[in-house]
Amino acid sequence: MDLTVATDRAALVKARDALGPGRIALVPTMGALHEGHRSLMRLAREHADHVVVSVFVNPLQFGPDEDFGRYPRTFDADLRVCEEEGVRVVFAPSAEDMYLPDRQVAVSAGAMGGVVEGAFRPGHFDGVLTVVLKLFNLVQPHVAVFGQKDAQQLALIRRMVADLDVPVSIVGAPTVREPDGLALSSRNRYLSEADRRTALALSRALRAGAARAGMTGTAGTAGARPAEILDAARAVLEEAARFDPPLLLDYLILADPATFAPVGDGHRGEAILAVAAKVGATRLIDNMVLTL
Ligand code: AMP
Repeated sequence: MDLTVATDRAALVKARDALGPGRIALVPTMGALHEGHRSLMRLAREHADHVVVSVFVNPLQFGPDEDFGRYPRTFDADLRVCEEEGVRVVFAPSAEDMYLPDRQVAVSAGAMGGVVEGAFRPGHFDGVLTVVLKLFNLVQPHVAVFGQKDAQQLALIRRMVADLDVPVSIVGAPTVREPDGLALSSRNRYLSEADRRTALALSRALRAGAARAGMTGTAGTAGARPAEILDAARAVLEEAARFDPPLLLDYLILADPATFAPVGDGHRGEAILAVAAKVGATRLIDNMVLTL
């Protein structure tokens, strides 16, 4: 079936209405599509009859010193990916079409939007939730798919949907990685070969933490304390701080998957081991879900 490209909100609503009967799944992206995005589209197809993908580099979620201007934009290639994955509608509006010039009202991510990743990117999650709610209202999907790669974003979207009674089912998708462990990201294109070697420490640190928690191999001890898991991961990151280029750590945390508060010794069940670091000019994030 044909792919319709809608470049403004009016065209999107028309294309959405032309889809006919059946369930609609939305996959929001910022483009520069890779295998991780493809996996979301495939999962979306399992949950719905029609898949809508948005490609929008959302200015609201970038800070003044961040990479909005140089964020990779590969629209023609993105369209081919969507075609290959059987997507029915691609929504790629301009910022001017998306946001009214006199706009006032936005979504607040609350206290949870100000911790962990939000502490390093003030306003980021307000911008994310505002655009996601607008996309939900425009597309009116039955289901929307988001990657576990952005674990705090996924948790906040679930929170928004619960708190504001948004009638959309949220599906989380596992993180797709390179064979060497590096989590796929549109920002990986910024990495030089040397950057990439340093960047591998992120996933290696997470695996070390997971092993300490007894999740992989035989080295770990089930029942390890959060501090022990964090120490195992931190040792890998400290080693990479001496690489060229060095890994510059923003945070390493073992967090409650629903609230992103740090977990204490008594915590049982799932916990997210999350890391963010700068390598050269690139800021990367990664995480793994552990069971304690
Ligand atoms: P982005 O284009 O980076 O805003 O990402 C769009 C969606 O793809 C978000 O829901 C991300 O969590 C998800 N995503 C990004 N990277 C990956 C990955 N490596 N594996 C799975 N999903 C991903």
